[in-house]
Amino acid sequence: MPKVTYFSGETFPLEMHKVRIIQKLTLLPVEERLRAVEESGYNTFLLQNKDVFLDMLTDSGVNAMSDRQQAAMLLADDAYAGSATFYRLQDKLTELFGKKYFLPAHQGRAAEHILCKAYVKPGDIVPCNYHFTTWKAHVVELGGRVVELLKPEGLEVTSTNPFKGNFDTAALEALVAKEGADKIPYVRMEAGTNLIGGQPFSLANLKEVSATCHKHGIKLVLDASLLADNLHFIKTREAEYADASIADIALEIAATSDIIYFSARKLGFGRGGGIVTDDEELYKQMRGFVPMYEGFLTYGGMSVREMEAITVGLDETLDEDMITQGPQFIEHMVKTLDAAGVPVITPPGGLGAHVDAMRFLDHIPQSQYPAAALNSAIFIASGVRGMERGTMSEQREPDGTEIAADMELVRLAVPRRVFTLSQVNYAIDRVMWLHANRRIVGGLTWVEEPEILRFFYGRLAPIGDWHHELVAKFRADFGDSL
Ligand SMILES: *Cc1c(COP(=O)(O)O)cnc(C)c1O
Repeated sequence: MPKVTYFSGETFPLEMHKVRIIQKLTLLPVEERLRAVEESGYNTFLLQNKDVFLDMLTDSGVNAMSDRQQAAMLLADDAYAGSATFYRLQDKLTELFGKKYFLPAHQGRAAEHILCKAYVKPGDIVPCNYHFTTWKAHVVELGGRVVELLKPEGLEVTSTNPFKGNFDTAALEALVAKEGADKIPYVRMEAGTNLIGGQPFSLANLKEVSATCHKHGIKLVLDASLLADNLHFIKTREAEYADASIADIALEIAATSDIIYFSARKLGFGRGGGIVTDDEELYKQMRGFVPMYEGFLTYGGMSVREMEAITVGLDETLDEDMITQGPQFIEHMVKTLDAAGVPVITPPGGLGAHVDAMRFLDHIPQSQYPAAALNSAIFIASGVRGMERGTMSEQREPDGTEIAADMELVRLAVPRRVFTLSQVNYAIDRVMWLHANRRIVGGLTWVEEPEILRFFYGRLAPIGDWHHELVAKFRADFGDSL
């Protein structure tokens, strides 16, 4: 997607697609938005979509499909075993990653389940650049421990470092020396680190990680769910690859890793997932879990129609006009918010704009979940649904101690090809209003706290009466505007 310079001299992203199917949206009045937040226990995962104006919860399974994807869905070959659809998808993955074996799974976390079942034993240590919620839950469930070896600058909220997802290979060397390589079943690198602002790794760093792993006989696993954004950032931020094609960069990335897994709810604009490898032995070690947990080897729990859409979606991932739309909208959000003094993660990453609740609500302690409070407040102010990525998204230690997250973020995801620039500008405006009124917002406390993955379905309540005060201020400032 190009950026164009307007007559005013300012530069804006320009959508390189047109809308041909629409879904009507509703923007509820602020009082109704508060009612919806109360009914959902101050957890935006529990909101009903009919009450949401702009759904910026996630990019998972909600990216817009293209005409080519929809057309391909009609050609799906419906067979339990040996479907031609499976082989089309497998061939596309081989083209993209240069690896010949493909194990299908119904979504990304199902691939994580299989990968952990196959390799993680009690007492194992699994290093990564940064964890992802569902992957960590699987490792812990199997008695393993996750160690984050992100380079320390990755956790600096504001920065000009273009690759805050980079991994610290010296720290891996130290870990191997201390614990021994046989305790480390694999190292996991996540493209576009989800929980810390969609920040990419550089290809130079990935190659270094690969060399360090292989020197010690440790497998390198790549979580490629957010690869599209990372490809864009390597091309635009890593000088060596400025002239390389997206397809060549994808192949070079893939060549570093023994196993690649992905959520096709993100990569490929569809709904599904899977695991790819070039190593027959690894393939066989994981294979048995597919029919056991997912479905037969040629569909793995996915619908054949979705598999056709993913095949075309993967092809579109190599189209620079297509993969730049998300990052460019995000850059526009981050730069505009930053210029207005709203604390956001910089530089802009993939996946979404990340508002820093630790600074936005610096009067709320982490024990009162500032990111969750900000997330609810944004919904009340705008009807925009974001996602909490802070302490609420952590899990307590087995002894019940609360883990304070490294960062308290509200992610406003930008699903690919879904929103227009005027919708993005509306979201920016309401976050700016909330920032001007941030002292009104207070903390939250648990009403119902589940033990596992509590952020998905736990319920909270406001501490004090800030929610009513916020609605009153909105009315005072905006009159009867929505
Ligand atoms: C979304 C995501 C997953 C899990 O994928 P699902 O399809 O939602 O199960 C795993 N890793 C990363 C980096 C993700 O963003």
